[in-house]
Amino acid sequence: NNSSKTDGDKPSSLNPSSPTPQAVDTGKEEPMSKLVRSKLITSVHADLEILQADPNSPLFSVKSFEALNLKKELLQGLYDMKFNAPSKIQETALPSLLADPPVNMIAQSQSGTGKTAAFVLTMLSRVDTNKPYPQCLCLAPTYELALQIGENIEQMSKHMTNFTLVYAVRGERVARGQKVQGHIIIGTPGTVADWSLKFKSFDLKKIDVFCLDEADVMIATQGHQDQSIRIQRGLRKDCQMLLFSATYDDDVMRFAQAVIPNNPVVIKLRREEQSLDNIKQFYIECTDKESKFQALSNIYGSISIGQSMIFCATRNTAHWLSEKMTKDGHAVGLLSGDLEIAQRAAIINRFKDGKEKVLITTNVTSRGIDVEQVTVVVNFDLPLTQDMKPDNETYLHRIGRTGRFGKNGIAINLIDNSRSYSTLRAIEKFFGRSIVKLDAEDIDEIE
Ligand code: ADP
Repeated sequence: NNSSKTDGDKPSSLNPSSPTPQAVDTGKEEPMSKLVRSKLITSVHADLEILQADPNSPLFSVKSFEALNLKKELLQGLYDMKFNAPSKIQETALPSLLADPPVNMIAQSQSGTGKTAAFVLTMLSRVDTNKPYPQCLCLAPTYELALQIGENIEQMSKHMTNFTLVYAVRGERVARGQKVQGHIIIGTPGTVADWSLKFKSFDLKKIDVFCLDEADVMIATQGHQDQSIRIQRGLRKDCQMLLFSATYDDDVMRFAQAVIPNNPVVIKLRREEQSLDNIKQFYIECTDKESKFQALSNIYGSISIGQSMIFCATRNTAHWLSEKMTKDGHAVGLLSGDLEIAQRAAIINRFKDGKEKVLITTNVTSRGIDVEQVTVVVNFDLPLTQDMKPDNETYLHRIGRTGRFGKNGIAINLIDNSRSYSTLRAIEKFFGRSIVKLDAEDIDEIE
């Protein structure tokens, strides 16, 4: 395998050929961004790698939570949280996580992909609320992350009766010898080590599930690594041990192998890699919005286009363009940020089914559409970051293809002033792939 290449947090496709990368997200996920994130990141073509000790053991995945034989209170909790279907990492990890006898696991995927929900569900599934002592232990690197995981546990356990959660974080005190009664303990390594090893407030030997979250952040914090290992040493051999991380470099790997023994299942979800390699890029010089529309009409009138997407900078432009094109006889779908989620889904589905050949959209809504079926992408407006710089990453997202699935495609950029022209040149330079001028009157050059 090529595990050395699987650092999930480095979008290698953003490595430009040009030596002067500009303001682009390096992909490094700060713990803070996890705290403020509220949306699930989904990735259609994310590359999944599963390494398992026993290659004959069938590793299956589930497409629904219902298929997991969860307690009904937990299913209810998931529905309340509006989790309708498992995310990629959940669909792959949960069957193993919930299997009996329990297996150990090391799982890596970028933050926001649903790891927390996966292990919270695992702990809650295994807890027996009739037993008045801690049975699951979860370690987080910071106070804030511990609270955040705790919130997840509280939401998901909402329909369980008599369930209690205990926080082992700074400020929470137990007296020496005092027994902790909760079913799950979530805490930071220092406090958990004090409670378990020093004060004997709970018995590590009674823990059935041990989770270590954010292993990469954990090892970056002085002392956390050793404390985690000391805690782990106190567990039973048959305790289920799980480790999660957003990144997966050698240091994380070494640590993971030290704390997760017995041939764990290893799951890595690689970040989707896109490249411009199979894309022919063009630009057309226009003078204003109206002439951009004229250029579009020429394009659609003279070449046969399968399905295409047109990106506009604002909802206003998107609405305006959709009206003009509809009047011109095109079947267009319009996807804009002011729509309800259900409406968006309906429009995306119509487009996927080929009911509309053209999808006009603004930035916000473009993620999650399978661009493989789209052969032409038009930037009616070039993507800009909030501070009005060329947005290389969004450009790549709009027109890029994933390496493995890459088919050929065409990208057409419409420019109408010197500013958009220099944006175009900056993007061209960033990726080191030329963007060729196209004569709006003579579109045949494309083919
Ligand atoms: P990670 O631990 O990988 O950073 P989380 O488990 O915190 O990811 O999930 C990221 C966000 O997505 C959270 O807001 C979470 O509530 C939500 N989420 C997780 N799983 C699902 C799901 N199956 N369906 C919908 N939303 C989900």
